[in-house]
Amino acid sequence: MPDLENLIIIGSGPAGYTAALYAARADLNPLVIEGFAWGGLLQQTTDVENYPGYPNGVTGPQMMQDLRDQAERFGARLLTDDATKVELSDGGIQRVWVGDDEYQAKAVILATGAKHRKLGAPGEDELSGRGVSYCATCDAAFYKNTDTIIVGGGDSAMEEAMFLAKFADKVYVVHRRDDFRASRIMLDRAKAVDNIELVTPYIVRSLEAGENGPLGKAVLEHAATGETRDLPVTGAFIAIGHEPQSQLFAGQVEVDEGGYVVTQGKSTRTNKSGVFAAGDLVDHTYRQAVTAAGSGCQSALDAEWYLRDTPPDPEAHWAPKASVATP
Ligand code: NAP
Repeated sequence: MPDLENLIIIGSGPAGYTAALYAARADLNPLVIEGFAWGGLLQQTTDVENYPGYPNGVTGPQMMQDLRDQAERFGARLLTDDATKVELSDGGIQRVWVGDDEYQAKAVILATGAKHRKLGAPGEDELSGRGVSYCATCDAAFYKNTDTIIVGGGDSAMEEAMFLAKFADKVYVVHRRDDFRASRIMLDRAKAVDNIELVTPYIVRSLEAGENGPLGKAVLEHAATGETRDLPVTGAFIAIGHEPQSQLFAGQVEVDEGGYVVTQGKSTRTNKSGVFAAGDLVDHTYRQAVTAAGSGCQSALDAEWYLRDTPPDPEAHWAPKASVATP
C-alpha cells in the first residue's frame, strides 16, 4: 500500500512549482508529479521580459529551472513522469497513478496548465520560434519595423494585434470569417489603430520560410472563393485560443464549457474538498507566468489551511485504502 502523502501537486509550470515551494516551506513535504516534459509552456519560449525580478530578462527554460531549483531547495520531491490516472475524492484520499505506481494523498493540487491551440498549417511547427509565436505579449519586441500577421478573431487576437502594432510596421489580422468573436470594444479599438489591417475571410494555408530560414511569408486562401494570396511577413502570431489540459480530470471535477477547471470565488478550491486547482488550468483570462505563480501560491495556502482544519477521521477521511486494480 502506498504511503499517505500530505499533498500531491500534478503539473510543473510556474503554478505547480510555486505551489511546491510554498507547500515545502509549510512543512507539507509535497510530492510533485512534474511531468516528463517539466516546465510547461515556458519551456517553449525564448526570452521572458515581463516577469518581475529579472531586470535583464531570462529565457523561459532558465526561469523554469530556477523555479524548480527553488522548490527543491526547500524539500519538494519531484517525480519526473506523467500522471496517467486520478481518482479524486470529495474530502477523502486523493489517488494518483503514474503508470502502474499508485500514490495517495490527503490533498491534491491540479496545475497541468494549458496549451496553445495550434493552427495545424504546414510550416507552423518547423518555424515555431523562428517567426511563428503564440505570444505577442512575450515576443512582440523582437518584431520592430517588420510586417506581421495575427491569426484569430477573438479578444486575444485583438489584444495581441494592438500590442504588436506598437512595434511592427504592419499587423494583418487574418480571420477565417467576416464576423469576429471579439467583443465590440476590442474590435473597434483594433480597427482604430493605423497599422492594423483586418484580412477576412481568409484561412492560413501555410507558413513558409524565407531565403535565410526564418518565416518569409504566409499563404492565405479566401474562405469562400478559394483564391490564394501571399503575405510577405517575418512574424506570425497564432491567437486562436487555448486548450486547458484537463482531460485527466474529466468527469471528476467541475469544468466550464471551455474545459477549464472551475474554482470557487477567489480561492483555488474546486467542487471537491481537498482538490485544488491553479494556473492556466483555471484561467482563461490572464494566462501570464506571474499570475500562474500567484495562483500556485494561493493553492498551496488553501491546501495548507484545508489540511490544518480537516481533522483526520479514520472512517471517513484519510485512512489509507488498499490499492485497487491499476489502470
Ligand atoms: P476565443 O474567444 O475562443 O477566440 C478564438 C478565435 O480563434 C476565434 O475567432 C476563432 O474563430 C479562431 N479560431 C479557432 N480555431 C481556429 C482555427 N483552427 N483556425 C483559424 N481560426 C481559429 O479565444 P481568445 O481570443 O483566446 O479568448 C478567450 C477568452 O479570453 C475570451 O473569453 C475572451 O473574451 C477573453 N479575453 C479577454 C481579453 C480582454 O478582455 N482584454 C483579452 C484576451 C482574452 P471563430 O470565431 O470562427 O470560431
